[in-house]
Amino acid sequence: MTQITPQPGIMDIALYVSGESKLPGRGDVLKLSSNENPLGCSDKARAAYAAAAGDLHRYPNTDHAPLRRAIGEVHGLDPDRIICGVGSDEVLQFVVQAFAGVGDEVITTEHGFSMYPILARMVGAVPVTVPENERRIDVDAILAGVTDRTRIVFIANPANPTGTMLTPEEVQRLVDGLPSSVLLVHDGAYTEFASGDGGAGLVDRHPNVIMTRTFSKIHGLGGLRIGWGYGSREIIDVLNRIRQPFNLSNAQMAAAEAAIRDTAFRDHCADLNARMRQRLRNSLIQMGIGCDESFANFVLARFADPAEAEAADAALRGDGILVRRVSGYGLPAALRITVGDEDGVTRVLDPLGRFMSERGRA
Ligand SMILES: *Cc1c(COP(=O)(O)O)cnc(C)c1O
Repeated sequence: MTQITPQPGIMDIALYVSGESKLPGRGDVLKLSSNENPLGCSDKARAAYAAAAGDLHRYPNTDHAPLRRAIGEVHGLDPDRIICGVGSDEVLQFVVQAFAGVGDEVITTEHGFSMYPILARMVGAVPVTVPENERRIDVDAILAGVTDRTRIVFIANPANPTGTMLTPEEVQRLVDGLPSSVLLVHDGAYTEFASGDGGAGLVDRHPNVIMTRTFSKIHGLGGLRIGWGYGSREIIDVLNRIRQPFNLSNAQMAAAEAAIRDTAFRDHCADLNARMRQRLRNSLIQMGIGCDESFANFVLARFADPAEAEAADAALRGDGILVRRVSGYGLPAALRITVGDEDGVTRVLDPLGRFMSERGRA
């Protein structure tokens, strides 16, 4: 056994911690810990998934052509430059496998998504974490972190767990400042809750940018695991060479195609989220809880200190509500709260209001 050693970096990986989903002894848990869609998924996606049950013995197609065509039509993109994966996590994994190796550097930011350093270590690369500025990605800090070993820069925009977003001008300045040998990954998991094209225009102007998107957030299909990426022909060709031919099942592709074509449901979800996000943020601020403007489907609630955040979390749990502790993201005094529907927002605000007034802070 001692002769069997894993590749460099792998044993440095700390296991990913996902949002909790259960509270012992409670049946009425409100889960606001994983940025899931409070409305679930499109009925059309659910019907397409059910219909796929008749074909379980059939191998799926390997090129995802119908799904890529649907994505291309809805977003006005060239389907030949789209790749689909088992969640956008798989597309991100293709990127590190294809473009980084042992000893290379991969830049992530202070409060960046925790999958990025995990993926870098998976291939023996070194994750280099650069500071943010008041929970916003700092373009200059990223550019200062670039060395001749840098291969990839990861940003989520809007970012998780801060919810903040760079302006198009800031992202442009980042790309303009990067060497053309460095690949910028523009992770648009929350694009539909913000404005803009998720980085598609940037991809069209710069061959060293790839955009990733997901069906897990606004489309409410996190349980089904589907994501996609959009890049130059050359980059997509490279990624396709390491993609397993049958990475997506018939059911995944059928549900995803129905979901992406249901733009009415998507727009309804975005509209509800925008209204509830504003209500949640305004109420938190009124209670004396810090909260930056969010461009995603969650807000980051900032308490006085880590102890207060922990106590607030305990108060919420007492009411059967799960939110996300984000100490692992360098934010020990904060809780990330997914924006729920009208009832969900009411249900999370009630105990927080009581908690803050009991502490004499509201
Ligand atoms: C949720 C999320 C994703 C999406 O992951 P999937 O693998 O597509 O479910 C990607 N990036 C960020 C920053 C996220 O928060």
